[in-house]
Amino acid sequence: MQSQFTNLLQLQRYFTDELVCVQYLEQSRWAGNPFCPHCGSEHHYRTKTRFKSPELKDYKDFRCKACDKKYTVLTGTIYESSKIPLKTWFAAVYLCTAHKKGISSHQLARDLGITQKTAWFVLHRVRAMLQENSPELLQGDVEIDETFIGGKELNKHKSDRAKNKKPNSLRTNNKTAVIGAVERDGKIMVKKLDRLGAKAMREFVTTNIDDSANIHTDEFGGYNQLERLGYNHQSVRHGVGEYVRGDVHTNTIEGAWSLLKRGIIGIYHSVSPKHLHRYCVEFEYRYNTRKIKDAERFADALKKTGNTRLPYKLLIAE
Ligand SMILES: [Zn+2]
Repeated sequence: MQSQFTNLLQLQRYFTDELVCVQYLEQSRWAGNPFCPHCGSEHHYRTKTRFKSPELKDYKDFRCKACDKKYTVLTGTIYESSKIPLKTWFAAVYLCTAHKKGISSHQLARDLGITQKTAWFVLHRVRAMLQENSPELLQGDVEIDETFIGGKELNKHKSDRAKNKKPNSLRTNNKTAVIGAVERDGKIMVKKLDRLGAKAMREFVTTNIDDSANIHTDEFGGYNQLERLGYNHQSVRHGVGEYVRGDVHTNTIEGAWSLLKRGIIGIYHSVSPKHLHRYCVEFEYRYNTRKIKDAERFADALKKTGNTRLPYKLLIAE
């Protein structure tokens, strides 16, 4: 049941009908040990299916012996009660994770023959699934930096941004602050901030970075507290043209920011502050799996099937 495809065409040839998709998901989510998503019990029997699809007429639902509720591998997932075939979902997951800068809902709609509104919803659900629920703390040499997404800032060249003049209000000119930390040659964590204050930065650092890490930043005042928090911290002074001092620099995270911004400008044109955190998750996931092949990334993404559902009402209400 392992991936037998290395590109989208092969993927579509492999997932020919809904039964193959459901069986693949069962293996991916449960690895041979189905459990009840309602109570966690592994005791079950198989019973008549609820699926209307003719391709699934021979499939049997699970009924939990502990709580007596019915379930399938789709219960509690982003695919639950969806009218879109699973093979279309899988193609969307592949396209969303394989494209270096992401894919727009307009492009996805054209590629898969679905409406743009549906594609928009599908993409947001896929992003919700990609969210890392319990990420490991970053270690070693870790660079931290903040940046602003949206508004006029996007059109400015980096050198034009006065880094020592960061506004406290993050919604001025439609800009939203994002903070990120990256292990050199390792993983990245990116978070949208509502306020670029000392408290929010402290919270980001202490929940994402191991206290043994060597932290590299620019001279922004919010980082002065890092020593007090017990971190090894060194900074470069961008304000006076110092970008590298020995091995102290923030080049890795700056590179990641330009990747994130190129994706947002080039693919999505703009992102509303309301949904920015979802794009951050998508970016984070692609960055953190950059060393594996597209098909492996697809298989890895599908393992996260049980993560979340994200109903439409919740998505638009946020
Ligand atoms: Zn149960």
